[in-house]
Amino acid sequence: MTDSSLPTAIVQVPGRCPLCEEPGAAASACDQTICVRKGHHRIPPADFDAIKQTRRPADPLIGTRIGAWLAVAQLGAGAFGVVYRVHDDKGRTHSAVAPR
Ligand SMILES: [Zn+2]
Repeated sequence: MTDSSLPTAIVQVPGRCPLCEEPGAAASACDQTICVRKGHHRIPPADFDAIKQTRRPADPLIGTRIGAWLAVAQLGAGAFGVVYRVHDDKGRTHSAVAPR
């Protein structure tokens, strides 16, 4: 019997490193020397493209983990903190606030 109800792990989705742009499995840590130190993780292509369109300096939390979540895009910022789109380890999307 095959259990098709299990979600596909995000690590099977292609992604790119927000810092060096190297391709690889989404949510997996980039193995480039400069990125290993910074702890960047590869993010899914759609979110990677969104970062490229903002023309702002990359948020240092993008491509890193906030607790159990991978931050893939910044949704907004205010006095309360910064809101991120995050993915959990099953590839599901959530919003999370990182307080200032
Ligand atoms: Zn990298």
